[in-house]
Amino acid sequence: MAEQKRDYYEVLGVDKNADDAALKKAYRALAKKYHPDMNPGDAEAEKKFKEASEAYAVLSDPEKRRQYDQYGHAAFDGAGGAGGFGGFDFNSDIFGDIFGDIFGDIFGGGSRRGGRGSGPMKGANLRTSVRITFEEAVFGVEKEIELTLKDECKSCHGTGAKPGTSPETCSKCGGKGQVVYTRQSPFGGIMRNVQTCPDCQGTGKVIKDKCSDCRGTGYIASKKKIQVSIPAGIDNGQCVRLRDKGEPGTNGGPRGDLLVEVVVGRHPIFQRQDENIYSTVPMSFAVAALGGEILIDTVDGRVIYEVKAGTQTDTKVRLKGKGVPSLRNKDVRGDHYVTLVVQVPDRLSHEAKDLLKQFDEQTGDSLNATKNITSDHAEEQAGGKKKKKFGKF
Ligand SMILES: [Zn+2]
Ligand SMILES: [Zn+2]
Repeated sequence: MAEQKRDYYEVLGVDKNADDAALKKAYRALAKKYHPDMNPGDAEAEKKFKEASEAYAVLSDPEKRRQYDQYGHAAFDGAGGAGGFGGFDFNSDIFGDIFGDIFGDIFGGGSRRGGRGSGPMKGANLRTSVRITFEEAVFGVEKEIELTLKDECKSCHGTGAKPGTSPETCSKCGGKGQVVYTRQSPFGGIMRNVQTCPDCQGTGKVIKDKCSDCRGTGYIASKKKIQVSIPAGIDNGQCVRLRDKGEPGTNGGPRGDLLVEVVVGRHPIFQRQDENIYSTVPMSFAVAALGGEILIDTVDGRVIYEVKAGTQTDTKVRLKGKGVPSLRNKDVRGDHYVTLVVQVPDRLSHEAKDLLKQFDEQTGDSLNATKNITSDHAEEQAGGKKKKKFGKF
């Protein structure tokens, strides 16, 4: 072996004691990132994908893992030998399971798993999104969405063949829906590459006389209105799953699901973080200094809050249970955190100005603070530099 091989654990980024779940999770993430279908023409990604697949094939097999732990890569040297690690079959259960998951995530399922011949297959999942307001996310809402759904064609009962005729078994794949190509794997063994049959697109059947109603597809698409119950507490980006509202299944399989992603609009004053709500509320200097009642907007309406005398600006208060309900249990709610900010008045009457000057004289004479300092002292304070006066431009 000319090239130095990386340690399998290092390849997957797991430690030596990683259990099956951890291995699978690590491999899943790498496979998703480097799969050739996601990186067409990227040789580096393909190399990484193969490296990760090889590592996973070995470490997920208890016997091979034991050998590897004991002998390292030497356990599988002697290419093609009895103990050697030959090509790996991407359609074996360990990979099939993972790729099913991965492509289910990315392509909405079904499409990749399709074409396994004649067994019942669940239809693909569909995705859509719905916009709701901040309050609707907090308290839940019923929404009606419209989308195009496929249904089995009633004329041909989903076969796609003209009524009175039936589809024939595909001669290229013999009805399996897949064709197998074998080639030399870069690791010395034979790699079986299974592809969807190009003649029948994986259905295993070819239609000579197409049903005129569905043009041979077996499905009729129509616009449907669907009610979506959005639970209280849902957050932006979360999905509501509607069972059996996806693509129809094949060969009697169940329909896929409809995943509705919820897009929550911004609120002018509330921000949300998980189950807590945050907002900023102004209070006058008089209320902050003397104490008093202020009104605070919450998702439950306005509440009266008693500000204590001597409250500083940026004081945070918690309104317990005024946050967002938990998705799991809507009776459990987060809190609402309010930041109280002192508002500085910018339009004062002459009278108010005079009173404020009087007030200032009583409380430290801050308006005359710099006039009372001797010029020598000021220079000292400014570090020997000339005293500079900062004023309005
Ligand atoms: Zn039809
Ligand atoms: Zn075929």
